[in-house]
Amino acid sequence: KSINLSNLLSRIVEETSVIAKRKNVTVVLDVPEKLEVKGDERLFYFIFKNLIDNAIKYNHEGGKVEIKYSTLPKEQVISVCDTGPGIPKSHLPFIFERFYRVDKSRSRKLGGTGLGLSIVKLAVEKLNGKVDVESEVGKGTCFKVYLPYT
Ligand code: ATP
Ligand code: MG
Repeated sequence: KSINLSNLLSRIVEETSVIAKRKNVTVVLDVPEKLEVKGDERLFYFIFKNLIDNAIKYNHEGGKVEIKYSTLPKEQVISVCDTGPGIPKSHLPFIFERFYRVDKSRSRKLGGTGLGLSIVKLAVEKLNGKVDVESEVGKGTCFKVYLPYT
């Protein structure tokens, strides 16, 4: 089934606007208006809801989140980048594992289970894609979702 990912992302940004406003985090959605993808809408929803939720939740007060689209020869890329604290290199290999959380005390305060990213990874794989992370402590984090062309 073909779905408009641009509309879906707008909906998620709308749904997360209350928590973003509370933290004074600006969310910028910069993707083409007619971005059609194929697959189960619930998987796409779960993936981007979780990534955007994390990008706001772990961000600094007054921070920024940018959702962007780009193309590669063999795949398309949707990135969710934030200006949060970043993730130390030593933790990066583990963040897609179940129940893994970088800062136990901070994470406990923020709630959540540590399952989000592990299910994001499974959902992306179900769509024949890949998910990757780039992060710099003190600068921020980018999650990139690679999806095949349909
Ligand atoms: P849940 O998503 O189940 O509510 P969670 O957010 O703690 O809980 P994950 O989404 O799997 O779990 O994230 C795992 C850990 O990775 C988080 O606890 C956090 O420490 C770190 N993390 C995830 N996204 C970011 C981000 N954008 N910036 C900084 N750290 C992050
Ligand atoms: Mg999460």
